[in-house]
Amino acid sequence: MTQVEWRSIELPRVIDAKRNAFESIPSLISSLRLKGNILMLSSPTSHRLAGKKILDLLEDETSFNVHVLETRVATIEMVRIVKKYVEDHAVMTILAVGGGSITDVAKLASYYSKITFISIPTVLSHDGIASVKASIMSNGYKQSFTAQAPIAVIGDIDLLSQSPAKFTYSGAADLISNLSAIEDWKHASRLRGKDLNNYAIELSRISAESVINNVDILNHSILDRAGIVFRGLMSSSMAMAIAGSSVPASGSEHTISHGLDRALNYQNLHGEQCGLLTIFTMYLQQADWKMVKVILKKLELPTTLADLNIETDIFVEVTESAHLIRDRYTIIGSGIPKEAIIKALKKTGMI
Ligand SMILES: [Zn+2]
Repeated sequence: MTQVEWRSIELPRVIDAKRNAFESIPSLISSLRLKGNILMLSSPTSHRLAGKKILDLLEDETSFNVHVLETRVATIEMVRIVKKYVEDHAVMTILAVGGGSITDVAKLASYYSKITFISIPTVLSHDGIASVKASIMSNGYKQSFTAQAPIAVIGDIDLLSQSPAKFTYSGAADLISNLSAIEDWKHASRLRGKDLNNYAIELSRISAESVINNVDILNHSILDRAGIVFRGLMSSSMAMAIAGSSVPASGSEHTISHGLDRALNYQNLHGEQCGLLTIFTMYLQQADWKMVKVILKKLELPTTLADLNIETDIFVEVTESAHLIRDRYTIIGSGIPKEAIIKALKKTGMI
């Protein structure tokens, strides 16, 4: 008999996704009854696009003392700098205004400092916006650190729709990759007796289907594209929170992607790469990889190694040893032989 696992689930208290959501940030912060000083973390670009506007609103409509710190990089050194800044300036809330790097630094620095953070994404390139894990560069490559979920996520659909389409499509591809992660989870359950969480699985599947069932809308309305991908990334984050790990949204396709990132020095967008790898891993899983390929093509996302400038030799080398990258049982099992990798690449048209 499987033992019931009791543990807490950490979720954001507020998810505010609408047009001109920025304008309600002062009232949202009041409703959360936050105290102390605020630190806005942004990049030069995200500050110009959104941070400055939010700063003006907070200064005009609240009595909070708002500090601003700019960064571009998600490194462990930057996390330490932010933590020190928080302590020196009695900061009680971090506003993360920007992309994945800014969010990850805010997530980990606020966790280490035991304060809250609010996520205000300016791009939708992957599903880490509301997850509890932070991807931070340490000792030369990105590592996943346990951090905390934001207390609130603000999705200003007008701003998000203005971000480069490539990023939003990359986020859409990251959502499609959930299908491969779900297959891997079921595979691990069958062969290794891993517990399945059906609620997390359904939520993860819904996140992927929000893209798959709305391809035409995604391609024809930039506002709806931003709204659909934002909601999908939120529900994918929820699936991970409910599962208590990234398993519902990160299977063999993400494992190989981590290996490629290291081999290729992070040359590709995370979502684009995971979307492409989903064709490959779903072929191995004997799942409907053809459907995934059709959807990726319709969204003009990469479907071949050449689309992402990945040499076949490097792909084979990384994939052959991908089972050593992390301790998560997937379709890769204890390794795939070179011949099987080449065959899958040829059969799927990836080379
Ligand atoms: Zn991902």
